[in-house]
Amino acid sequence: MLLRNIFLCLLPVGAMALELSLPTANQTLFAPGAEEQFFQGTAGHDWRSGQYGCVRSEGRQYHEGMDIRCLQRDRRGEPTDSVLAVADGEVAYVARVAGQSNYGRYVLVRHDWNGVEVFSLYAHLRDIASGLRAGHPVKRGQPIATLGYSGTQNISRDRAHLHFEICFQLNRNFAAWFAPRLSQGDRNDHGNFNGINFQGIDPAAVFLAARRDPRMNFREYMEAQPVAFTVLFPARRAPLSWMRAQTWCIVNGPEPAPVTAYEVWFMAEGVATFVRPRWDVAPAGWTVEGVNEIALNTLAGRPLVAQNGKRGDWTFTQRGAELMEMLSY
Ligand SMILES: [Zn+2]
Repeated sequence: MLLRNIFLCLLPVGAMALELSLPTANQTLFAPGAEEQFFQGTAGHDWRSGQYGCVRSEGRQYHEGMDIRCLQRDRRGEPTDSVLAVADGEVAYVARVAGQSNYGRYVLVRHDWNGVEVFSLYAHLRDIASGLRAGHPVKRGQPIATLGYSGTQNISRDRAHLHFEICFQLNRNFAAWFAPRLSQGDRNDHGNFNGINFQGIDPAAVFLAARRDPRMNFREYMEAQPVAFTVLFPARRAPLSWMRAQTWCIVNGPEPAPVTAYEVWFMAEGVATFVRPRWDVAPAGWTVEGVNEIALNTLAGRPLVAQNGKRGDWTFTQRGAELMEMLSY
């Protein structure tokens, strides 16, 4: 361990920077005022509806990634844009059957960005590179698929686009948690790589930050994200899978007594960025400890916690309670 630490200290700082490039040849994200050439809006709506966030149905509907416009088509009008890995990583999952989810054909690539386990997700693909399999290493800029309009939501061909996410896997044992919750006749074809088990953050913001700062460190980027709410987890219902995957966010202190709770800080999306053991509290269940309403309102159309009208205290919404269950399983 000591040797490893010495080795890390000798690495040049530049080698630790996040090297990132956009997933198609469409680079207009970086051209100020050219947003409508980059984002593909939904039917009848402008480019804003192709952005990440609560951008649909007057802000009530949440879009977990960004939709990138198609640039090239063949003579029959089919999209031909290559889809490229945004950074070095390892293929985590390949979904080749278009009709098994609203993502259609999709690929998940796992990355280690400055110690943070993060995934890039490429969806609605027309086809996927033959031979691409889970476990294969990929390089930044490597073609992995072709942009398309596959999925169960009937995207029209003229709205062919890449749905792209930068996301986090909520629980490595998701499939076991989800199995008894499936409605009758329903199946989970994607195991732990079901979209329900991934939580996206704003991908355009990550690309723009990396563009502004070529020495960007993704761990520092995550640590700087506004905290929307903090939760106390009883020690016996700790978010263990998350803590194992995201060791960067755990702050260990001296342990004067057995740990009775974990304090977890969340972005409005529900991504945890800080975990700290506690000895001074023993909550019976998940408890909202604090709320930053300004940060929470950045995703007002999809709240995970809400204020009780009469008493004024904060509790989990149904979606928030489900997230706590998934993280604690
Ligand atoms: Zn989309």
